[in-house]
Amino acid sequence: GAGTSASSGVRFELEKETELRFEVESGEKVQLELLSGLAEVFGSELNRNKKYTFGPGSKIAVFTWQGCTVCLTGKTEVAYVSRDTPMLLYLNTHAALEQMRQQAERDNERGPRVMVVGPTDVGKSTVCRLLLSYAVRLGRRPTLVELDVGQSGVSVPGTVSALCIERPADVEEGFSVQAPLVYHFGSTTPGTNIKLYNKLTSCLAEVFSQRCEVNRKASVGGCVINTCGWVKGSGYQALVHCASAFEVDVVLVLDQERLYNELKRDLPHFVKVVLLPKSGGVVERSKACRRDTRDEKIREYFYGFRGVSFYPHAFDVRFSDVRIYKIGAPSIPDSCLPLGMSQDDTQLKLVPVTPGRDLTHHVLSVSCADDEGEGGAGGRRGVLESPVCGFIVVTAVDTQAQVMTVLSPAPRPLPRHTLLIMDIRFIDLK
Ligand code: ADP
Repeated sequence: GAGTSASSGVRFELEKETELRFEVESGEKVQLELLSGLAEVFGSELNRNKKYTFGPGSKIAVFTWQGCTVCLTGKTEVAYVSRDTPMLLYLNTHAALEQMRQQAERDNERGPRVMVVGPTDVGKSTVCRLLLSYAVRLGRRPTLVELDVGQSGVSVPGTVSALCIERPADVEEGFSVQAPLVYHFGSTTPGTNIKLYNKLTSCLAEVFSQRCEVNRKASVGGCVINTCGWVKGSGYQALVHCASAFEVDVVLVLDQERLYNELKRDLPHFVKVVLLPKSGGVVERSKACRRDTRDEKIREYFYGFRGVSFYPHAFDVRFSDVRIYKIGAPSIPDSCLPLGMSQDDTQLKLVPVTPGRDLTHHVLSVSCADDEGEGGAGGRRGVLESPVCGFIVVTAVDTQAQVMTVLSPAPRPLPRHTLLIMDIRFIDLK
């Protein structure tokens, strides 16, 4: 089967252990239907004779262990069958992790904590999804830790988060995101504030460990940590930091032997570092494509997704009713720092932002931090370590009237008054 632009369905017969890869053209939709046999999309089983719809730009692989027939309807950019997939290696990885969970159960220990690393566009998120879906299909309750601040699968960009996985990813929509634990980072690359990034990693690790102490299933299920594609310099150090904060047992390195060797050298010997090939199906995404995906993620947060529409609210917020901060002061030469202050302190400092026109279109996180406890030094530290309860976008600023108009998922008033500004902007075209 070659790529097709036919609008009537095209059938594909797949032999066992092969996959059909397709990309949906921009502005188009493609429907997938399983006609016979068994097949899965990134670890989630397809139901027979159900039509699955994929939106513009989707890049999908339909894999079959046993052989199957599927039908595609709509405009695909490419559609081809490949026999050359690393799925067997990924399945073996899952089997090894499952053995560790069984052992953890027997010995009253904790289950595997797995970190997935590699450069951008090697299929890290896809491997995480696969391993989590396979685990949950066996009745496990693993946790997804999302540290990719550029392309978060859980919340809006510029955040890190943790999500307990209770059912396999939905074929069309991915994991159902109910009650994730989300922290504000504020930009799409860890390099903007690596101290903050590492601190948030430690925060998530601590919260996860606390949960494991009181929840046996979570402890046995372990976690799968998705990381950023930045694997050099401070990006590499951030991976080493993450491995130690989470006390990971397994590191899966996708596609990069150098990174594999470095991690083997730098991580404690009891950490299993495994090199896995990337799938030939993983498609490189352009900068523009990444930006669109980020934008879409924010749009979904406010307006919903597919069948589920949300109706966000627009209202005015008085400057005097909120406190807006940016995390991290611009770095200044060591020699100019006040006595007893280090660069770390400047990167983790809450800097008050005076609202002005330049706030327009910025995404703001609404911090869960207690509004009262926020005055003193102790309270301020609390803001960084407090999760986020939601996001708003500033759509207009009136400096004369000292108010800003915001887009919010919930009606006024804001649930909290401490707002953290992101570098990320969203232009609401609705
Ligand atoms: P990373 O997390 O490393 O940046 P992703 O897992 O997000 O990479 O994969 C990049 C893109 O490739 C995604 O759109 C994903 O759906 C797609 N993809 C992954 N594996 C395959 C495959 N086997 N065939 C086709 N597309 C794939």
